[in-house]
Amino acid sequence: MSLSFDPDRLPLPLGHFIGDRLIADAGQIRLQRPSDGKAYADCPVASAAVVDEAVATAKAALRTTRWGGVRPRERTKVLQRWADLIEAEAVPLAQLEALSSTRPVGHLIDGDIAVTAEQIRFFAEFADKEGGDLVPTDDGHLGMIMTEPYGVVGAITPWNFPLSMAAWKLAPALAAGNAVVLKPSEMTPFSTVYLAQLAVRAGIPAGLINIVLGDGPTTGTAITGHPDIAKVSFTGSTRAGSAIMANIARTGVKPMTLELGGKSPQLVFADADLTLAAGAIARGILSNAGQACVAGSRLIVESSVAEPLVAAIVAQMGAVRPGPTWVETTDYSPIISAVQRDRIDALVNAALARSAVCLTGGAALPGDGYFYAPTLLAGVDQSSPAVLEEIFGPVLTVQTFDSEEEALALADHPTYGLAAGLFTRDLSRALRLTRRIQAGTVWVNRYSRSRDHILPTGGYKRSGIGKDLGRDAFLANRKSKSVLISL
Ligand code: NAD
Repeated sequence: MSLSFDPDRLPLPLGHFIGDRLIADAGQIRLQRPSDGKAYADCPVASAAVVDEAVATAKAALRTTRWGGVRPRERTKVLQRWADLIEAEAVPLAQLEALSSTRPVGHLIDGDIAVTAEQIRFFAEFADKEGGDLVPTDDGHLGMIMTEPYGVVGAITPWNFPLSMAAWKLAPALAAGNAVVLKPSEMTPFSTVYLAQLAVRAGIPAGLINIVLGDGPTTGTAITGHPDIAKVSFTGSTRAGSAIMANIARTGVKPMTLELGGKSPQLVFADADLTLAAGAIARGILSNAGQACVAGSRLIVESSVAEPLVAAIVAQMGAVRPGPTWVETTDYSPIISAVQRDRIDALVNAALARSAVCLTGGAALPGDGYFYAPTLLAGVDQSSPAVLEEIFGPVLTVQTFDSEEEALALADHPTYGLAAGLFTRDLSRALRLTRRIQAGTVWVNRYSRSRDHILPTGGYKRSGIGKDLGRDAFLANRKSKSVLISL
């Protein structure tokens, strides 16, 4: 069966999803398809009153269903049914995702959607496995650490991987016994609404997942500052993360998890398998056209092998197949918006105006869609805008080194520390450098997440606070209470 579809004939679940109802609201943000620039819908912006209604619905659902207090295995079972239904409905989900986001439909069924279902199953299994602890005390006491859900968690997600970002937030929060009010990006709201509808169809009690559509300043601010939202989980830019911290500080105090931006280095030593490294580095910057938090956007290579490595990457950059996200054979994504495409171009030009030399690409691709050519810039130093800024596009810089110390100094970024890649056959060097690299994730001789969801993800420096995925993300959705009983 072909996965290609006609984007003009897709019904959209357009509205807030509160309880088990889709609630229509006036459209305020014009949405354009990244693949051809055509306007196709207007996204509503939930007011503070709509957010209030979603939070009240979540609180009522927690009360009436006793979700936080049911036998944990019940939560596991119903979350697993949701994952099964997501797989059964993979085609409509993939189409909604491909319509508004930059994800090609051919990458979704075995990629983002399979991962979304697996991540839900992964967290479902934690519900009855992570409890509190009995702690050592003198024999006149019993000491224990109990854990409890927070109540209503507020979640905010970006546009670059809408479904899996929603799963990162919803699955651990629900497995841990909370309800959620989630705001997807205003640019990619529909697949998340459908995901929530599937949850109710799978048997997750209505009101535990509420989706409010809207922008950051109005809807996002209403969520993060809401007095009945006990915890905030955010993925997006460092700029918005910082605004969220300020709003939380202004309106009260609450825990937050922030997964923010990155500018991740890829270190390649002369002893590395260069074919493997070239493939991983090309995929690390071309996947989703570089619109990934962990995009490996800074190549740092030992001088003696720079030439063949760069040539192999340039060849792979030239082989991409751009196309509409609704055509199955497309393998290269558009940029999410005209504004973002122009920002990429401005940053590339600013780097070229200083010292950068363009080895390939360096311009938008012609046509109505927002495509940008895979770009490789040499001749840059640490002060180049192409090295400093998170470009969030298919732009790779290359710098060379002659010693480990030099490589580490180039890898260290003043702002970001999300991920890093390291290519070498020398195990001692790999371990030595892994210890010293300032990043929340280090991949050695690969550059991508695996499907081992037990590995948490999160940033050092201004790339974030706290972790998504792994045991950490489940525990971050429960608060702990210390109990000491005198016997
Ligand atoms: P963004 O920060 O512009 O928006 C993200 C979300 O935050 C959107 O839903 C937006 O409406 C909302 N938002 C914006 N301002 C807000 C505010 N003041 N209060 C509350 N909500 C607000 O980011 P984006 O352009 O959608 O996504 C790209 C960014 O996300 C990149 O910086 C990327 O690195 C980052 N990201 C990080 C991770 C990670 O795991 N660290 C994963 C994916 C994306």
